[in-house]
This record gives sequence, structure tokens and C-alpha cells, in this order.
Amino acid sequence: MRIDVLTLFPAMIRGLCGESILARAQAAGKVEIVATDIRDYSTDPHRKVDDRPFGGGPGMVLMCQPIFDAVEAVEAIDPRPATRILLSPQGERFTQKTAEQLATEPRVLLIAGHYEGFDDRIRDGLRPREISIGDYVLTGGELPALVLIDALVRLIPGVLGAEDAHDFESFSSGLLEYPQYTRPREFRGMEVPDELLNGHHANIEAWRLKQAEQRTRQRRADLLGNNND
Ligand code: SAM
Repeated sequence: MRIDVLTLFPAMIRGLCGESILARAQAAGKVEIVATDIRDYSTDPHRKVDDRPFGGGPGMVLMCQPIFDAVEAVEAIDPRPATRILLSPQGERFTQKTAEQLATEPRVLLIAGHYEGFDDRIRDGLRPREISIGDYVLTGGELPALVLIDALVRLIPGVLGAEDAHDFESFSSGLLEYPQYTRPREFRGMEVPDELLNGHHANIEAWRLKQAEQRTRQRRADLLGNNND
């Protein structure tokens, strides 16, 4: 899989993608993550990428030319078709289901905005899927891009140590995950539940499912009875 990020701040993307599981996934050839500076595609002698909004108002708007040219140039590098994604607070909400679907794509192209956002003709002309990571406004699309990258790279088969490490994670099963414990058995008077210590696999599974259901009912009753989309 190849993930491209078009951004005004490629170092932000490279920094995080050079650490931990994302770095290991790239070293193992599971994914290629390439950050491209949108300014490199500006035809302006000063590498300008934004301008004032028509009609007035605060801030600057990202111009069509550098983004159209960057998308077309980066897509031409690799023959596999890319799923274009515009990071925007106005987009569909990002969920685990979206991550699962994107993790099966051969190529994903993320476009991170900044300032007041995009000239709307970028939406009309490039027809990207528009994704929001939540109902709040960030200064730029780099953190949302990194959220998408992290969520979907860990779903690529072979990226996590155990193949099924995410099978019962929160949201994958439609439930929040059950409580987890590790050594020691007792810490400051708090003990690990007996059910996890008796080594009886079926009992442990039953206990975990019950805990997951209970936890979901208490914390996220909205997840019960729907398909988590
Ligand atoms: N003026 C825009 C609006 O009201 O919709 C917000 C622009 S925001 C300050 C700048 C950029 O950050 C956006 O173009 C987008 O790429 C990114 N961004 C901010 N919040 C986001 C969110 N919740 N999800 C995804 N991207 C976001």
C-alpha cells in the first residue's frame, strides 16, 4: 500500500511516521508513506499557495493551482489508482469502519488543508472523499492525516505482531474492549479478577465478553444495536 500526504508541513508527517509501528511497517515493506510539500508545485515565484477570500472575510484560502498540480503529479508517480481524501471538519466522520475499508486500498492520497481551508473548486474538480476526525476545528490537516494513517496502517495484515491483535479491540467487534491486566497480580490492594487467573480458556472468553458488553452499555450505549458506522 502507498499513502501520499500533500501538506504545507511535510516534516510533521515524516516525524511521526518515522517512529514506532509506522516506521517498522515501512521498513518491512507493508506500506510506503510519502509526504509532499504542496509549495513545490506552486507556479508562483514566491511559492505562494494561498490568497485572500473573494467576498472578504478573515484569513487565507488555499488556491486551486498548487493543489491540482500536486495531486496530478503525485498520482502519476504510481499507476495504481489513488483514493483521494480531503481532510476537512465538514467531511464524513472517521470511524473504525472507514479505517478497515481504507486499509484494503492500494493507494490513498491525503490532502491536508491549512488557514481558512480550500478554494471550493478543489472539491468540485478533484471530487475527493471528504473526511473529518471529529466535530472540532484544528489549525491544519496534518494531525487528522496522521490519525488516519495510524488507524489504517495498523490494520494492514502483518503490521501488528500477532495477526489477530485487533480482532477484539474497541469498535472492531461493535463493543468496547474488555478490561486488561498484567503483572503483578496485586497492586496497592487492587487485585486482578480471579476469572483471568484460573487458566480456563472458555471461562476467560465468557468473562471478557460479559465485561465488554457491560462496559459498552455503561460508556457507549449508542454503539449497541447498530453496526458502528
Ligand atoms: N474554515 C474551515 C471550516 O470552517 O470548515 C476550517 C479550516 S481549518 C482551520 C484548516 C484545515 O485543517 C482544514 O482545511 C482541514 O484540512 C484541517 N482540519 C481542521 N479540523 C479538522 C477536522 N476536524 N477533521 C479533519 N480536518 C480538519
